[in-house]
Amino acid sequence: MSKDLVPDMIEFNFDNTYAKLPEIMATKLAPIPVKNPKLIIFNESLAKELGIHFSKNENELAKLFSGNELPSGSEPLAQAYCGHQFGHFVMLGDGRAIVLGEHITPGKKRFDIQFKGSGKTPYSRMGDGRAALGPMLREYLISEAMHALHIPTTRSLAVVTTGEEILRETKLKGAILTRVAASHIRIGTFQYVAAKKDVKMLSTLVDYTIQRHFPDLLKVTNRSIALLKRVTDLQVKLICDWMRVSFIHGVMNTDNVSIAGETIDFGPCAFMDQYDPKTVFSSIDHYGRYSFGNQPVIIQWNLARFAESLIPLLDSDEEKAIRIGEEHIDSFDNLFANHFHEMMKQKLGLITNETDDKILIEKILSLMLKNQSDYTNTFRYLINGKLPQEKLLNDPEFLEWEKVWKKRIETNQNKESAMEMMMKTNPAYIPRNHKVEEAIQYYEKGEDASFKKLLRVLQHPYQEDVDLTDYQKPSSPSEKVYKTFCGT
Ligand code: AMP
Ligand code: MG
Repeated sequence: MSKDLVPDMIEFNFDNTYAKLPEIMATKLAPIPVKNPKLIIFNESLAKELGIHFSKNENELAKLFSGNELPSGSEPLAQAYCGHQFGHFVMLGDGRAIVLGEHITPGKKRFDIQFKGSGKTPYSRMGDGRAALGPMLREYLISEAMHALHIPTTRSLAVVTTGEEILRETKLKGAILTRVAASHIRIGTFQYVAAKKDVKMLSTLVDYTIQRHFPDLLKVTNRSIALLKRVTDLQVKLICDWMRVSFIHGVMNTDNVSIAGETIDFGPCAFMDQYDPKTVFSSIDHYGRYSFGNQPVIIQWNLARFAESLIPLLDSDEEKAIRIGEEHIDSFDNLFANHFHEMMKQKLGLITNETDDKILIEKILSLMLKNQSDYTNTFRYLINGKLPQEKLLNDPEFLEWEKVWKKRIETNQNKESAMEMMMKTNPAYIPRNHKVEEAIQYYEKGEDASFKKLLRVLQHPYQEDVDLTDYQKPSSPSEKVYKTFCGT
């Protein structure tokens, strides 16, 4: 943390509503104190956005962001939820996280302030309730990168090391991340209430969620149907955004799907270099369930679980309720395809609608697959003509495609606007796996320079800088990261 920052007071502006829900929804308990907390990262710009003031020294901040001292107004709790993990239904809950409270910004926005790695809770099952430094640095880096890519995401306010060792395959440094989220209500939260067969609570949860996230739906006749539709829309947008920047979440279990439509839980997530829809990095995803190209199918499956949870409220007649749910899930394919088409059109700078757009999109994807092209750099090439060492450029089929595409963006539309749109849609910099792993490994050894540099680069992903070409290169064979881990 920079020396020039001498914060002297943190003041969260808490107004806690989740804590007032019926007690089956959460367990009230404080984080478990740690031995020797040290603040290693603090997100000053996020603190500013949140309107948090300080008048404390670094030591005191370390106590605060480790949970050793609770800020006034906090009402710490661990949330109860369930989830389908890799297709299997499991009772879960915050096993290593504590929501401190809901902070209200000066602009009246509400955010959960949550500690991750803060000790055991009644939902810890076999876990130790703790988190290791590496995965917390990873979440910090990637969530901040997602934010800069203009993708809805939870964010990271601080990382502290705990001064304690935690045992995984080896002994690792313990750490706690402070996560900032629109809320932590998940599909799994609804599944939990549905599993309890508590229709009154289900209705309370629907009302609570609408009040908190979608107040424009308060007046509709059936709030549950409206909620199902809204969450579907947000998830369709989110997954298209992920696919726009080559993001693979890696663990799209229903407990990791935020109702507010934010990207949440950065475990084994990774960005794909060479385009291949079958790409998987997660070490535990043996069958490619959560591969890049399977993400739309999986979100549809998850939304079907959401619809199932809501059945008692979709209609008083159960058969009719099931039909409403099914029809909604059946409409997903079209909804997603349309949104995906629009997103790809933006990536290619296609402003007007022409009959051959679909062919143009499908063709470039198949040419990228055939030539093992770097996804990010190929779209950037269409803007700036730079694409070092790509097989694609020697493929006559691609050269033909490029001719057609160039003609297309110059006909019926303004080329400058097309380029402008492409610059905003196609990042120059993504968190390339080898760079992320390298930065974290150095940090763990006590050298934070490459982490800080990478973070700076990722804060401006659409602004190309000639001095940063190293961050645009896909990994060399020796640098290649084949596997990522859950970080649990
Ligand atoms: P995740 O895969 O990170 O979404 O976590 C799935 C579930 O496992 C959640 O209920 C977590 O709270 C729980 N969990 C993950 N790691 C730990 C840990 N070290 N101790 C206790 N619970 C954990
Ligand atoms: Mg999770």
